[in-house]
Formats: sequence, C-alpha cells, structure tokens
Amino acid sequence: MPDISEHEPALEKNYGDWAEYFASLGEPPYRAAQICQWIWKRGVLNASDMTDFGKKLREKISETIDFSFPEISGYVKSDDGTKKFLVKMPDGTTVETALLRMGPRLTACVSVQAGCPVGCPFCATGTAGFERNLTAGEIAGQFIVMEKAAGRAINNAVFMGMGEPFLNTEATLGAVRTLNSSKMRGLGIRHVTISTVGIIPGIETLASSGLGARLAVSLHAAREELRNELAPSNLKYPLKDLMPALRDYQRFTGDRITIEYALFKGRNDSLTDARELARLLHGLHSYVNLIPGNGNRNGYERSSPENILRFQSVLKSAGFESDIRTGRGGEINAACGQLKNPSARNHVPNKVLK
Ligand code: SF4
Repeated sequence: MPDISEHEPALEKNYGDWAEYFASLGEPPYRAAQICQWIWKRGVLNASDMTDFGKKLREKISETIDFSFPEISGYVKSDDGTKKFLVKMPDGTTVETALLRMGPRLTACVSVQAGCPVGCPFCATGTAGFERNLTAGEIAGQFIVMEKAAGRAINNAVFMGMGEPFLNTEATLGAVRTLNSSKMRGLGIRHVTISTVGIIPGIETLASSGLGARLAVSLHAAREELRNELAPSNLKYPLKDLMPALRDYQRFTGDRITIEYALFKGRNDSLTDARELARLLHGLHSYVNLIPGNGNRNGYERSSPENILRFQSVLKSAGFESDIRTGRGGEINAACGQLKNPSARNHVPNKVLK
C-alpha cells in the first residue's frame, strides 16, 4: 500500500486539478466533472462509492487520492434552530462553525482561521488567540459537512465564523470559488458574503477578483480612537484609509456594502456615536446591521434595546437602511463574536443531528 501521506488531498483539488489528474491517467476530461459532483454536490468522500467509475479506476483513485475531510465531532443546538458544530480538520485542528435557520433557508457560517490574530476585546475568538490559517479545502469543506449533517441543501454561506478572511485571502477566495463553481458545489455567488474587519488589501483583492461575492465590513466605531480599541486592526488600517478604500470598492464593483456595527453599553451606542456613523457613511451605498453586542467579556455589555432603537432612529433620519440583527444562536454562543468561547464547549458527541 502506498504511504497515505503521499496521496494527493481531494479536499484541495479544484476542477482544473482534477482534469489534469484524469488526463495523467489517460481518462477523458468529463471524469473531472463526475468526481467534483460526487464530492461537492453529493458529499461522497470515498472512491469505492463513486459508482459511475469502473472498478479499476476506483482502485486507482483510492491508491492515489487522500479523501480526508473535515469531520463534525460535536454540536450544540439552540431553541431558534441554530446549530453550532465543532469541526475537526484532518490534522486534528478544531474550529467552530454555525448553521443558522431563517424560515426555510439555511445559512452556513464558516471559519477561515483556527482562532484569530486581530484580538477585538469583546470577541471570544479574538481573546482565545490564533492557531493557524485554514486551507481553501478546509474552509469549503465545513460547508459540505454541515450540508451532509443538515440532510438538505444550504442556501447561503457567510464567512463570519472564526478568523479574519482577509488575513487568509488566498484560501478564502479559493473556498469561494470551490463553493461557487458550477462544476463543484454551484452555490450562487450572490449567496456568499465575506465579512471583514476592514483589511484594505483584501478588500482590493476581492474587488479585482471579479468574483462578485458580497462584502460586509465590521466598523463598530466611527472615530479612530474608539475603533483602535474595539477593532485593533484599525491601528494598521485606520478609518481615514478604510473609508476611501470602501468608496473605491463600490465604484469598481457597483455593489452595496453591508456595515456591521455591534453595540456595547456606554461604549459606542450614544446618539453622538450614531450621528458620527451617519456622517462617516454619507455617500456610501450601504446597509447597516446593528448587532446587539454579545456577552460580558472584558467589561463589554450589550446595549439596551431602547438605546439600539434610538441609535437606529438617527440612522433612519439620515436616510440609511438598517436592521437590528436578532442574536440567533446567542444562547449557545454561536452568535457573532462568540465562536470558540471556552465556556460554551458543551458540544454533545455527533450522533443524530436533528
Ligand atoms: S471580531 Fe472578528 S476580527 Fe475581531 S477578533 Fe473576533 S473573529 Fe477576529
């Protein structure tokens, strides 16, 4: 038997790689489309189950390809139907992902890094430290294993789990391509949202990639000093540079940008803060998601519902569309800024996911 470590990982192969692989075996090009369908549409991760390949070809694939994939090793479910999964990568690294239910639609919230180096002080992921970047296959693989667990198609993918997508841009965009390619998973690109804390080079790369995925930017503050505290990436990519970059992005793509703003009591939820945000966003075609901040971490407390409504009314008077995000999954710590919360590691072993 060949050494498994010498096998090529199926997880990291795109359609073009498969086409080359089958050409090297003297097989016709349509084999690439067949294997991509098995893996990314049907979630079949074993060559011997790929029944439209002959026995000899199945054996050859098994001898040369490593089908290790991320695996769900536990989950928690909340009353609103949100599930948080503990997902183990082939090398044993674990990340958390979430599957959110909104009416009949399912949204997968995937992680791009194990941990996060940005260190936002209110965020469970950020305060738990950084382990490593995930590969494109490990990111897209989370979607596929959640889809298998759900037993039906997932409608949307949001890159909002653990980690900052644009500190791992190549793998993030590779995962978007895998999910979007009609030869692979075939998820519509307008059903894919990448959420960044405002890493400017990544925003520029997304614009020039021509992919067309939606962009969400977590601002959390509209003045430099406060944002340096709430989103430390601001020290490197301050608002004075970020806002022109977002305007350039919009000129280039024509797309509306979603602005995420988590509200914390007495920190960034005053009427002055709301007016500053309205001034900052003036002229930018945007939609503002107001997120009741999660948990009591490092002294950050959730804003009161009254304050959030007052904040929203300032934005409304200034002509901005906004929404107050319901904290789906909050009680299992699957909400924004809560994945990898050590106090929430109460997953049950993965037996029956209902
Ligand atoms: S909020 Fe996002 S960018 Fe900030 S530490 Fe958490 S995962 Fe990283």
